[in-house]
Amino acid sequence: MGVMGWVRSWPVLRQLTGADRLGRGAAATSARTGDLTARTATADEVVASICPYCAVGCAQNVYVRDRQVVQIEGNPDSPISRGRLCPKGSASMQLVTGPQREEHVLYRAPYATDWQRIDLGEAMEMVADRVLDARRKGWQDHDEDGNKLARTMGIAGLGGATLDNEENYLIKKLFTAMGAVQIENQARI
Ligand code: SF4
Repeated sequence: MGVMGWVRSWPVLRQLTGADRLGRGAAATSARTGDLTARTATADEVVASICPYCAVGCAQNVYVRDRQVVQIEGNPDSPISRGRLCPKGSASMQLVTGPQREEHVLYRAPYATDWQRIDLGEAMEMVADRVLDARRKGWQDHDEDGNKLARTMGIAGLGGATLDNEENYLIKKLFTAMGAVQIENQARI
């Protein structure tokens, strides 16, 4: 770029001589920026979702290209968040693509200091075994006066803020069917 070309590219000159007098658009845009294409523009699919972080439940648009998440932004159609995301929600793409994302089941045995990778099916069996064992150990048929109880005090349900109504409905059904009486959630979605 010659001297005149450099002078003409100077943002202040472009602001003073061009249509963008407030310097918030073309005058402040470099050639490098002009060459860039937004990931949202090249996505081949946009999937509506909900931010998983907190109970506000802000709506998200998840941009996908070649079946990979390439960007997550606020969904302006949401009456709750109207397109906005807080810094955590804005960074939630890292939950999917970040190198620290754990993609395998890890198990740390009692008194062990290291985690070991186990199969998901094996982990589910271990959870089921523990639930059944705790249910059995905490089972109460009758109280001290002979009144029927038919309940277990060995397990309880405590739901997180991002469980939605439908998930909590199913969790309540499951725990009640197992005889649990201590079932709580923090549903707001
Ligand atoms: S974007 Fe922020 S406020 Fe909204 S649900 Fe996510 S964490 Fe909560």
